[in-house]
Amino acid sequence: MHVETLAVGPLGCNCSILADLEAKRAIVIDPGGDFDEIHRRLQALGVTVDAIVHTHTHVDHVGCTAELQRSTGAAASIHEADRPLYEILPVQAELLGIDRPVPADVDGALVDGRALRFGSLELAVVHTPGHTPGSCCFLVRDGGKARLFAGDTLFRGSIGRTDLWGGDHDAILRSIRGKLLTLPDDALVVTGHGPSTTIGNERARNPFLRER
Ligand SMILES: [Zn+2]
Ligand SMILES: [Zn+2]
Repeated sequence: MHVETLAVGPLGCNCSILADLEAKRAIVIDPGGDFDEIHRRLQALGVTVDAIVHTHTHVDHVGCTAELQRSTGAAASIHEADRPLYEILPVQAELLGIDRPVPADVDGALVDGRALRFGSLELAVVHTPGHTPGSCCFLVRDGGKARLFAGDTLFRGSIGRTDLWGGDHDAILRSIRGKLLTLPDDALVVTGHGPSTTIGNERARNPFLRER
């Protein structure tokens, strides 16, 4: 699997392009902004985008979904529990002082346990509510190694904030402990902002995940 992660938009959202370069098929996670740069990378790889998926629908993660959908014709998906958040994107944009995104045609295809195919690879949806009600992580197994795209649920040394619309601190801890810390220590974690980490690192060092 080919993976590249670009920090996009005014808040540096990590947008990832996952591709099967032999089959020339790809999935894009969290096109938060900088459409031209994402588009250029996709063209350079020569891939067809099979799906556009979102770890959650905070405005910084969906900023150029509509443009990408228009240029690729791909389905754009969220978890249905984040639909109310998608509907208040203008309010979110105003609060954060960033441009309002053009509305995209998003479906609710992200369901816990479902797998989306791209070429010979599969991306599994893991519903991890807490940062938002519809927050999801995406798990891809590649040559025996697990790679997790965690959005704003888990960061290196931190966890997602839960003081915004629908956030729930107990739920995010339950999600991380019950669904992420069950992965092997060497599972690589691409976070929603900032540096990547591993499950083992967070299990050992993340102060929010210490047992009380
Ligand atoms: Zn967020
Ligand atoms: Zn974010």
